[in-house]
Amino acid sequence: MALEDPDWLTAGARHVWRPYCQMKTAMPPLPVVATHGSRLVLADGRELVDGLASWWTACHGYNHPHIAAAVRQQLERMPHVMFGGLAHEPAYRLAARLAALLPGALDHVFFAESGSVAVEIAMKMALQFHINEGRRGRTRFLAFRGGYHGDTLATMTVCDPEEGMHALFSGVMPAQVIAGLPRDAAGEAALDALLIREGETIAAILVEPLIQGAGGMLIHDPEVLRRLRRLADRHGVLLIFDEIFTGFGRTGELFAMQAAGIEPDIVTLSKALTGGTLPLSAAVASRRVFQVFWSDDPEAALMHGPTYMGNPLACAAANACLDLFEAGTWRADVARVSAALARGLEPCRALAGVVDVRVLGAIGVVEFDAPVAVGALCARFAAEGAWIRPMGKVVYLTPALTTPDADLAVLTGAVRRVLGAD
Ligand SMILES: *Cc1c(COP(=O)(O)O)cnc(C)c1O
Repeated sequence: MALEDPDWLTAGARHVWRPYCQMKTAMPPLPVVATHGSRLVLADGRELVDGLASWWTACHGYNHPHIAAAVRQQLERMPHVMFGGLAHEPAYRLAARLAALLPGALDHVFFAESGSVAVEIAMKMALQFHINEGRRGRTRFLAFRGGYHGDTLATMTVCDPEEGMHALFSGVMPAQVIAGLPRDAAGEAALDALLIREGETIAAILVEPLIQGAGGMLIHDPEVLRRLRRLADRHGVLLIFDEIFTGFGRTGELFAMQAAGIEPDIVTLSKALTGGTLPLSAAVASRRVFQVFWSDDPEAALMHGPTYMGNPLACAAANACLDLFEAGTWRADVARVSAALARGLEPCRALAGVVDVRVLGAIGVVEFDAPVAVGALCARFAAEGAWIRPMGKVVYLTPALTTPDADLAVLTGAVRRVLGAD
């Protein structure tokens, strides 16, 4: 830092427990005082181009005036009311719009506040779907190596047990079935055999469609998803797509499932849902799943209801975020960002230790053969005017879809220079 740290940083640093880091040895965090467009403004006045869109949320860029105006208006009118027994326009309008945007029969929207909680709700729906149908014993989930579905206790069990951040807790929670993705016909046959053996104990298959994000930005072919749909149907197992990362344009489709032309029984959404302004998530069930809870029997109901469920401010932000998607320029933006990432990162392929350079939609990835030094790299990227935080073996970019060409050049230039390709 060129200037002294602000007072709040020094005073608060003794009390804030930061995410995903060894507090004793981690690099100090960068103090941010404002955001605009694709940029973070630091306390010392420097601006960094954000290569991550704040953990994949700020899809339309920071401080978008349309989203800000919608939230401001909602704040004046009604910041929050409980969702039990009460209804309000922002949430009801949002549910109807999500149902219209999502393919096919994904029509029944259950709101929550975070991605992990939406995945927990999807898992609970799947378990109870079978219980309500009178099938006992379907108590486990089938998930995949390389997958990531959240940090809460139940979602930890469906993350990659080795690569994920939760290996420490193996043995604490029930073991799920973790397999390799069925990348070819042989993979499908192997998974079919597994389901013939164990299918009767499995409630649902859980997968991030097209790209496994936090597990290492691992891309798979849409055919993998069609195989999973076939297997789920053959074995009476539900299929859950976790589109918390992939949803809202990131992969080039509004939802990644659209690349495969199939639908899951339940989909989870969050991250870009509010354009990076307020926490909101949803588990959206198909008519077939919802039907199994629709009954005269109170026991058949889904007993769940987060306190801030359907928060009006967050739903107003999400409605405004959807207005921007419906305006329709996002598709061209993703193509533009995608081309810039492909062009800008390609020279990294020749570097020692680099095993792959890949791009899907507005996601660009340089993968190394071993984990990289995250803290040291962050500092060097920042010195180049870019906010980029690698993850495991990958240095990746997931900028706002609206990032201008000049700022995309700052991001890819920083990656090339810091990694030594320029
Ligand atoms: C981020 C993420 C989650 C968890 O969301 P939180 O809001 O951090 O709880 C779950 N699944 C996927 C695919 C994610 O990318």
